[in-house]
Amino acid sequence: MEPTPDCESFVFPHPLGCTREQFVAAAAKLPRAIRPTPHNALLAYRALFREGVIPSFAPFEVHPVVRESRETLEDREGHGPIETVKFVLRHDDGLETESVIIPMIRGDRVTTTLCVSSQIGCAMGCTFCETAQMGLMKSLTAEQIVMQWWVSTYRVGVRPKNIVFMGMGEPTDNLDAVLAAVEIFASHDGGHVPATNITISTVGNPLGIARIGELVDRHGFHKLNLAVSLNAPNDSVRNQIMPVNRAWNMAILRDAIVAFPKYGRGAMCIEYVLIPGVNDAPEHCDEVCAYLKGIRCSLNVIPYNPRRNSPWPAPTEESVLAFMARAIEQGQFTKRRGTKGRSQMAACGQLGNEEIRKRKFVGLAIEGTAARSAEA
Ligand code: SF4
Repeated sequence: MEPTPDCESFVFPHPLGCTREQFVAAAAKLPRAIRPTPHNALLAYRALFREGVIPSFAPFEVHPVVRESRETLEDREGHGPIETVKFVLRHDDGLETESVIIPMIRGDRVTTTLCVSSQIGCAMGCTFCETAQMGLMKSLTAEQIVMQWWVSTYRVGVRPKNIVFMGMGEPTDNLDAVLAAVEIFASHDGGHVPATNITISTVGNPLGIARIGELVDRHGFHKLNLAVSLNAPNDSVRNQIMPVNRAWNMAILRDAIVAFPKYGRGAMCIEYVLIPGVNDAPEHCDEVCAYLKGIRCSLNVIPYNPRRNSPWPAPTEESVLAFMARAIEQGQFTKRRGTKGRSQMAACGQLGNEEIRKRKFVGLAIEGTAARSAEA
């Protein structure tokens, strides 16, 4: 690589938003006095991700953890106490991201999953979701997404084994940044989290699903996981609780799911937040199973976590078990997603920053497909 002439005005891109190649290329443009060799630039990139060492030639401010809450649960299967950690990072503009570290039981081991936000707030307006109450405030850059992993690893002290894009925001509404972050997470010299341990969750934007599919077709990303939030048995119910369905209905969503590339034996996750009186009737279960017939997928039933001022309670244990049993009877592979962090508002659909929500943000530009779908 040919170094460019010294340029005092060169601004180094944020190291956490760089791939290895971008980082080394940027280092080559630094003024001669501080320019590392390409080899030393590569070592610096590795040290940033493997040891948390901020490069001296490309320093950056770490978003401070302004709030952290922990909930300890006694695991019934004898793994001892397990802890869910929610942490809030403050950006220069005062806005805050929320991320959650969730313990996951895998056989006789406890691993950790980091749930990252891709936006602050969300434009999609799902009625069961705490984040939707905020509206969309900002889409995060790749480095702001990766920063959540870096802070979890080097400030909170938990290096997550898995990463799921299930925090605040709709990933397909900020896909350039999300896919860039996925590449950095999955890189051997970056986060070193294999694609098989990364999941992107979407409400079902078919254009976004197709773009994620393009990444999955690339070598090294075949096992990247897609999760689709279905949450309804038919268009009538889905239109009520997920405005996105008015832009792309369930038939269009199904086509996108069927067209998503498949490698190996992995099954797509279909998420189903079970809401009492809305989507939990036996006939709803039958409709969901019919809809999923022929799709290799796992139906993940998530008992609804009441958001603040929720019109619905959490489902009863009996109704969750009955719904699951009926789906299994029909041959649908079905799992239950545990609800961890409910008391800390850190469970699924509960991320949403009341502190920020109380402030009045005006004139926020809402761009892209999410805005169109939410308004449709
Ligand atoms: S469920 Fe997801 S897509 Fe829907 S409003 Fe909440 S964060 Fe946005």
